[in-house]
Amino acid sequence: MEATTKSGKEDVVSVENLAPLFIAQQRFEQAAAYIAGFKEGLIDFFKAPKRTIGVCFPIEMDDGTVRTFHGYRVLHNHVLGPGKGGIRYHPKVTRAEVASLAALMTWKCAIANLPFGGAKGGVICDPKQLSQTELRRITRRFISELGDAIGPQTDIPAPDMYTDEHTMAWIYDTYDILHPGRNNLPVVTGKPLELGGSLGRTEATGRGCLYATQRFLAGAGLSGLSSVADARVVVQGFGNVGSVVARQFREAGAIIVAVSDSKGGVYTEGGLDLEMVSTQKREVGTVVGTPDTQTLSNEDLLALECDILIPAALGAVIHYDNAERVAARLVVEAANGPVTLMADEILQARQIPVLPDILVNAGGVTVSYFEWVQNLANESWSLEEVNEKLRRKMDAAVDAVMGRWQTLLEGTRGDEANDTSLEINLRIAALVQAIEHVARVTLQRGIWP
Ligand code: GLU
Repeated sequence: MEATTKSGKEDVVSVENLAPLFIAQQRFEQAAAYIAGFKEGLIDFFKAPKRTIGVCFPIEMDDGTVRTFHGYRVLHNHVLGPGKGGIRYHPKVTRAEVASLAALMTWKCAIANLPFGGAKGGVICDPKQLSQTELRRITRRFISELGDAIGPQTDIPAPDMYTDEHTMAWIYDTYDILHPGRNNLPVVTGKPLELGGSLGRTEATGRGCLYATQRFLAGAGLSGLSSVADARVVVQGFGNVGSVVARQFREAGAIIVAVSDSKGGVYTEGGLDLEMVSTQKREVGTVVGTPDTQTLSNEDLLALECDILIPAALGAVIHYDNAERVAARLVVEAANGPVTLMADEILQARQIPVLPDILVNAGGVTVSYFEWVQNLANESWSLEEVNEKLRRKMDAAVDAVMGRWQTLLEGTRGDEANDTSLEINLRIAALVQAIEHVARVTLQRGIWP
């Protein structure tokens, strides 16, 4: 697949393959090459999803017309435990995209040391054009079509792009109606508080990003940037994740100079007033036009000079055609897959480290795990307890990946014929860490039969 992108004033056709499954598989192969004694057959097993379900169903719309929708649920791997991963509603959802995101979830859960495998779901639809009742009908029908493919001990959905706690409440309710007489709360996470949700789940991805960035900076330290306090931060996206990331980093002392949504971005040299940006978003539907801010395009936002750039929206936003323009000292992937393969290489060559999605945005699924545990025990933890446990999980994950990064670098340096140290980045280290963990457990369990 080729992508048409804007570069300067001219439209150019990128040379880069932006297909998410292609990117996921290339990255997997890159990392697998660093795993000594990795059994060949396991590579094939980990590259392909274990199970892919595609469903198609009609929905009666508010105006009485009928429309057909397509949805997917992919279970990539369940060696470590039941499948876990969000469900997204977006017009650009594809089976391949869902499959690549399910694989990301396998590695993410492994790095965070959670007893889950990886899964993901998606329905092709445009939530911005649908009413709440239409969304409810789509959700109920999708979940009933999935039947016993999801369950508290088999595959557990959660929110993702354009799904939220309301969607999770409908998922729970539908599943519960179809499976009466037992505790079904752990079938889905990201539920409203009154319905078994966990304190801190809504903010978990953003908070986890902050914790991971703080730990990384304290450990690795970029010259002149040893903490997020006073760092100049740019956040792309102002949805579930981006708005919380911006707030969390600001509370930790960072200066949020720019944020954006699908309609464009806003910039203020001295730092944005996030309350005003939120009010504008709530009342007008976009951050654009917030008083006392300069408007800029998403492309220009990505090129702003800053300390930390945080893509927190769509995938593949930093790619071959714009990676040279990135003027940040550190990129933090709050979104899933925002930096492409070629952009990774360009940023690596320019010595701009990227904190990879499977490490840095694992806070969401980590607090999902806490919610699941609370539901199984019929308990409810305090916010302090949730955040403290989240911090410990994120710190441990960052330490493990940084440790692995060092070992990988030491392993290749000095071996002149095979010196690949320039290619080794945090993403490869994170993937190696995750893949090795899942491979080890697969062999411990023993290949069936
Ligand atoms: N959708 C989120 C992710 O991509 C959360 C998944 C979950 O909580 O299961 O990590």
